[in-house]
Amino acid sequence: MEIQNKNVFVTGSTRGIGAAIALAFVKAGANVVINGRSAEAPASFSALQVIARKSKVAYVGGDISSNADAKRMVADATEVLGAPIDVLVNNAGITRDGMALRMSDDDFNAVLQTNLTGAFNMIQSVLKPMTKAREGAIINIASVSGLIGNPGQANYSAAKAGLIGLTKSIAHEYASRNIRVNAVAPGFIETDMTADLSEKIKETVNGQIPLGRFGKPDEVASVVLFLAQQEYLTGQTIAIDGGLTMY
Ligand code: NAD
Repeated sequence: MEIQNKNVFVTGSTRGIGAAIALAFVKAGANVVINGRSAEAPASFSALQVIARKSKVAYVGGDISSNADAKRMVADATEVLGAPIDVLVNNAGITRDGMALRMSDDDFNAVLQTNLTGAFNMIQSVLKPMTKAREGAIINIASVSGLIGNPGQANYSAAKAGLIGLTKSIAHEYASRNIRVNAVAPGFIETDMTADLSEKIKETVNGQIPLGRFGKPDEVASVVLFLAQQEYLTGQTIAIDGGLTMY
């Protein structure tokens, strides 16, 4: 898919990996919708408007874990951009880590509701116009936790493994409409989500990563951009993890 002038919605793009994905699409000439839970755009939004120049950038606030919010956000984005969404990036995600025995219902359900149901809500909201256009790309940001599990992340691993299954089913269902659906599974990436890990844990983790370091948000963004452009790839999960899951 030629990305220039296409309409791209990136959930959870006020910071971290989502912000890097939004920037990559803006640089490629797409019209990009930034999203976060707050009603207000983040401070970084005006800088993105300057970079965009010829294309449009818009901020649409709302909570993906609510189906009503997801539908309203896609409708608002379509109105602001003047045309339907061509590329959906389901990036928004949360963690509420803890060992399974002590994990509360609330912590388990909140992570499933945002990371898995939230992605489904957004997919359902964009599918109709995509099927009509007979073209579309959906990229779901999963995690290596969904591939190999991670102690203390029963909720998160279950949600991300579910997201990989969701990716494959939607890919099957809508391939005939030329809608491609893929997942990206990042390893440890330098963002707010991993900022609280102690130096000791970071050192241990780096020892397990063949490339010996955490990844950067823009390294994940480049894979997402590639998946949006590549027209013969669907139903796949690409791990970008410094080799962590190669064995
Ligand atoms: P982050 O915490 O820095 O940013 C998360 C973003 O999601 C924020 O913009 C936040 O406002 C938004 N968000 C959260 N819940 C939302 C909701 N209900 N509705 C709308 N927006 C919501 O996280 P990050 O590290 O940039 O992670 C981005 C994605 O990548 C997540 O899905 C995460 O699970 C995944 N991931 C991250 C890592 C990592 O090491 N950082 C590794 C693997 C996967």
